[in-house]
Amino acid sequence: MFEKILIANRGDIALRIHRACHEMGIKTVAVHSTADANSMNVRLADESVCIGPPPSNESYLNIPAIISAATITGADAIHPGVGFLSENPDFAEIVEDHGFTFIGPKSEHIRIMGNKIEAKKAALSLGIPCIPGSDGAITSIEDAMIVADKIGFPVLIKASAGGGGRGMQLARTPQDLSKAINLAQSEAQAAFGSSAVYLEKYLDNPRHIEIQIVGDQFGNVIHLGERDCSLQRRHQKILEETPSPALNEKMRLLAGQIAADSMRKFGYESLGTIEFLYENGEFFFIEMNTRLQVEHPITEMVTGIDLVRKQIQISAGFPMDLLQEDIVFNGHSIECRINAEDPINFRPSPGRVIDYHAPGGLGVRIDSALYAGYEIPPYYDSLVAKLVVHGKNRNECLLRLSRALDEFVIGNIETTIPLHQKLLISPEFLDGKYNINWLEKEFLAS
Ligand code: ADP
Repeated sequence: MFEKILIANRGDIALRIHRACHEMGIKTVAVHSTADANSMNVRLADESVCIGPPPSNESYLNIPAIISAATITGADAIHPGVGFLSENPDFAEIVEDHGFTFIGPKSEHIRIMGNKIEAKKAALSLGIPCIPGSDGAITSIEDAMIVADKIGFPVLIKASAGGGGRGMQLARTPQDLSKAINLAQSEAQAAFGSSAVYLEKYLDNPRHIEIQIVGDQFGNVIHLGERDCSLQRRHQKILEETPSPALNEKMRLLAGQIAADSMRKFGYESLGTIEFLYENGEFFFIEMNTRLQVEHPITEMVTGIDLVRKQIQISAGFPMDLLQEDIVFNGHSIECRINAEDPINFRPSPGRVIDYHAPGGLGVRIDSALYAGYEIPPYYDSLVAKLVVHGKNRNECLLRLSRALDEFVIGNIETTIPLHQKLLISPEFLDGKYNINWLEKEFLAS
């Protein structure tokens, strides 16, 4: 097993990894920007190294500084966390070339899945159902029109290098197509440095359902059920739950099996998430995330499996100690993403947290690096806490979530807690009747 792991991330996810390491008897190295010198992660780590100024590209994305920090502290492995360098195949290669273990999948798998066109090709070849669309990148408006006519409008133009819900353009009619392609191409070029875009059928009101998988270095792959992430704003997840209120046992097993069987064929190791859109009883692949996921705690709550611990064990070369039939799904879990944002206009609201009181009690978990007196820096993602609850069924979970939200105090900072409180009295949400458009088009618009 590793003796020392460098955590190349910040905030709640760095703390989450730190906690798994310490429970495993592994020492931790925190790397941080000057803006994060007083973070909880730095305080709790065994060692810390400042790797640069606040902007991410000079610190958390600064590969030479991270490798130097691993060298001077004598770390054995680097955990990239979520975001930042976690899905950068060059980083994974550089880490390994310098003699450290990258805690994640093989770089070749990160590379394939990081390019959505390649990912879709791989998914099709592995037997995963995909949304009908162009075979690869759009090369001309004429060819795109032929495909769009064949599959039918509306169609979505998506950036191959897209991420974070950016780089998508909708064409409802043939007249919209060339404008949508041009816009998507220039947006993709500006945001991702590649103008490659592809076309797929736009699904009107699907749900976003993803499957967590775990694979080891010996060809064993299992799935840990689904997460329903359909509550989104600007294609960004707001609240996630498992099990999905939209799936019956048969559909749940089907999606899990598709994900695990395909990843076994792929030779995938480490944690991964296969994301599907689900409409009219059918699953369609949209992308795969080759890393730990923000919403992983809800899977941990219903399976009792520490995913970060598993991920570290797998990267250290231990075989999987679980069979698919060992996995028992127990009760219901929901995660609310609490962002430091105005709950009405979603403007970021960084600043000093004057009071802090986290809810507690049976079935309540908080993953957060906040504390009273902490200054939320303006440079990074606005997610500041994950409130995760578990109950023996959905109803108990909802009641628990409601009282936990009422207890949560993050003083003097605008957060999205009131948005979640409002959601919890919405009949559609309480009935589980929502899709990827509902929050933005109906709930927030009303
Ligand atoms: P990103 O990597 O930017 O998150 P995804 O491909 O995962 O992009 O899609 C993000 C979200 O965009 C999905 O959860 C869904 O809400 C929406 N979306 C993506 N593809 C389609 C589609 N073909 N039809 C309808 N909505 C889509």
